[in-house]
Amino acid sequence: MSGDADAVVAAVRAVADRIESERSHLTDLDSAIGDADHGGNMARGWAEAADAVADLDDPDAQTAVKTAGKTVLSEVGGAAGPLYGGSLVFASPELEGGITPETAVAFAETYLEKVKDRGDANVGDQTMVDALTPAVHTFKKSIETDDLPPLEALAKAVAAAEIGVQFTVPIRASKGRASYLGWRSVGHQDPGATSTLYIMEELLETAADQFDSEVPDVDATSPTIPDAEAAEN
Ligand code: ADP
Ligand code: MG
Repeated sequence: MSGDADAVVAAVRAVADRIESERSHLTDLDSAIGDADHGGNMARGWAEAADAVADLDDPDAQTAVKTAGKTVLSEVGGAAGPLYGGSLVFASPELEGGITPETAVAFAETYLEKVKDRGDANVGDQTMVDALTPAVHTFKKSIETDDLPPLEALAKAVAAAEIGVQFTVPIRASKGRASYLGWRSVGHQDPGATSTLYIMEELLETAADQFDSEVPDVDATSPTIPDAEAAEN
């Protein structure tokens, strides 16, 4: 197995373990503005995905990501299955050449575009897009413009996702089940944005392990969204 595929297998296992340990918290968040299934759905799907990638015979990174995505897609019901799993499958070809800072940026951008497209969601709708968008833009800028080392770029992205999660609290949901509540969704943290943050934190931990480094301490700069138009689209 390639080192990159090893990293994917380790990352999917770390995500599965983290989601399992946050299962009741995610369920509580979804009880407040949804149907209380986000923790259970995600825990089941990622546990199956971790087993599926571990069973692959000498995969490359692309195949491992695609397998994880397919498993999440088929095991996780509701809105989350296609959004998390389907988007992973769709973005996996970006890793054809292995995992480098450049392919990781392309992967992240394609993943975000697919989530937005599938969910017909934008920043400000109180969904996972609110965590993902600043994270992906910050990651891209950190790599391409600021020339930061990959681990630092990923740490910056996680910090941006954290701010994105907080941003979901005071806004009103306009996509997904929470939107049925109208103004009553205001004041609640979005479960999908929260699980997206946990996934990103585990990617960072796994990447740090791969580089044999500590998770770098970075300033939580405000989320980087290129321009006002991007925030609206
Ligand atoms: P369901 O809403 O079908 O019960 P889950 O509870 O597993 O599915 O996932 C809910 C999460 O999915 C929400 O917190 C939100 O982040 C995300 N979500 C729901 N609908 C959309 C959408 N149209 N676009 C983007 N994300 C969405
Ligand atoms: Mg739900």
